[in-house]
Amino acid sequence: MAFEGLSEKLNAAFKRLRGKGRLTENDVREAMREVRLALLEADVSYKVVKEFVATVTERSVGTDVLDSLTPAQQVVKIVNEELTNLMGGGTAKLAFANNGPTIVMMVGLQGAGKTTTTAKLAGYMKKFHSKRPLLAACDVYRPAAIEQLKVVGGQLNLPVFEEGQGDPVKIAENALRYARDHGNDLVFLDTAGRLHVDEALMDELKRMKATVHPNEILLVVDAMTGQDAVNAASAFDEALGIDGVVLTKLDGDARGGAALSIKAATGKPIKFVGTGEKLDMIEPFHPDRMASRILG
Ligand code: GDP
Repeated sequence: MAFEGLSEKLNAAFKRLRGKGRLTENDVREAMREVRLALLEADVSYKVVKEFVATVTERSVGTDVLDSLTPAQQVVKIVNEELTNLMGGGTAKLAFANNGPTIVMMVGLQGAGKTTTTAKLAGYMKKFHSKRPLLAACDVYRPAAIEQLKVVGGQLNLPVFEEGQGDPVKIAENALRYARDHGNDLVFLDTAGRLHVDEALMDELKRMKATVHPNEILLVVDAMTGQDAVNAASAFDEALGIDGVVLTKLDGDARGGAALSIKAATGKPIKFVGTGEKLDMIEPFHPDRMASRILG
């Protein structure tokens, strides 16, 4: 699971701090050098680390902390709070439509886990929010993608709308009509993925966005790709505008850099995380619980 190395290093730094009893400003700055290194080794972006360490240091070297009875504990508490803030503070929810079906556009690069995540999220919404989701196959360039969506949809007993290789924007519109006619209150559009962010992909996604007015555009990125995931998030957000991120393969991510950097780098929250290949392995992302786990 993610963050093992980071946890270990942060805890070693804080253990030394606790061993000191009274703390000086210098003790704090020394510990922060270790925190800085630990975060960089976890593949958190340089700029994010710099700002994080500056904030924690500023809050920790005040007399209210240094002169308190448990200064080391106060510093750890500040690190916990700032890690939580870094990852977005509160838990970010999906925005459901007030009228008619909620439309969620799932976007991402090939291999990130988009199709699997589309099904997982729909299954989650059915189970925990009593929704009646429809999956729509709008990735028309790879016949295998349509088939894959049908397979995973079938495993979760979810209806899948497909029209083969047509115009993806038309398919999305037809899927919405189908949803309205069949009482589906949540529509997931599984859009095309490519190996790189390119103009043709973005143009198609922008056209879909302008036509169907989604309530949410969720970007799926692979945690194991670290800063590449962060760069993909920035690129999609700049070109298309996204509402949130689903971070997949957290189970295989030993470092945690993407989870810690995405909100700070893009301003957009991680809403869900994928924690395994099985179709029920998706969870809402809780920054506070994640921070406590890192420091656990
Ligand atoms: P797409 O090309 O973005 O649609 O990606 P897929 O949905 O086909 O997923 C690519 C691979 O990643 C598949 O083998 C999935 O089973 C796997 N995958 C997706 N999410 C997760 C996850 O959270 N954890 C793990 N371990 N594997 C995942």
